[in-house]
Amino acid sequence: MPEGPSIVILKEQLSPFLGRTIQQVSGNTTIEKQRLLHQRVEAFRSWGKHFLVEMPDFSLRVHFMLFGSYRINEQKSWAVPRLSLGFDNGELNLYACSVRFIEEPLDLVYDWWADVMSEHWDPVLARKRLRARPDLLACDALLDQDIFAGVGNIIKNEVLFRIRVHPLSKMGALPAPKLRELVEQARQYSFDFYEWKKQFVLKKHWLAHTKRTCPRCNIPLKKAHLGRTNRRSFFCDNCQVLHT
Ligand SMILES: [Zn+2]
Repeated sequence: MPEGPSIVILKEQLSPFLGRTIQQVSGNTTIEKQRLLHQRVEAFRSWGKHFLVEMPDFSLRVHFMLFGSYRINEQKSWAVPRLSLGFDNGELNLYACSVRFIEEPLDLVYDWWADVMSEHWDPVLARKRLRARPDLLACDALLDQDIFAGVGNIIKNEVLFRIRVHPLSKMGALPAPKLRELVEQARQYSFDFYEWKKQFVLKKHWLAHTKRTCPRCNIPLKKAHLGRTNRRSFFCDNCQVLHT
C-alpha cells in the first residue's frame, strides 16, 4: 500500500497534467465517470494516503487500499484500469483502487494538520490527541490516520526502531520527551522516506522492517502481528524499551 510520501511523489509526477482538461475517460469503476469528461484539473492534492484530483465543481478521491497501483503514460497489459484519465499530453491509469467523488470543497472535508507530509502539520495537536488516549499502543497510534495521516506500516516499524520504543508501549506510559520524539520522527521519517524513494534507495535504508537482525544489538529481531491494527511489527526486544 502506498504510504503518504508515495502519494506526494505521484502528485509531483502528474504536474504535466495540471491545468489540463480531461479528454478521455474509461475504466471498470461503477462511479459515474463520464462527469469527469472535459473537466479541468485545478490541483492534485494529497491527504495521508488519499490522492485527490481537484476540479472546479467537485473532486475525485483515490485510495490505493492494499493492492492499488498506477501507471503514467503506459498501461498494464494484464489488468483493466479502475479508472483511466486521458489528457492531450498523456494519460493516468489507476488500478485496483477505490475511487469516489467528493462534492464539498476539500478544505472543508480534510484536516490538513493531521497529514504528516503537509505544511499545515501540527505536532502539538498530535501530542494532545495521543495524550488523550493513554491505553493506545505505539503500534496502533502511528497507524491512526486521524493522528498521523499518511503513516503506513513501513514508517511505523522504522520510527519505533529509530526512537527505541517497543511497539506494545502505551501512550500514557511514554515519558514526555519520548512522546515528543515519536511525533517528530513520524514526520521526519516520512520525509526521509520521500527522499529515499525518489532516489530508488528506500529499501536499502530499512533497519527493522522485514529485517531479521537488529543492526544495533546484532541479535534476531522479533516479528509479530500486534495491536488492534494487527499489522506486522518488526522490533528488537533488547534495545526497544517497553513502556507500560
Ligand atoms: Zn536491538
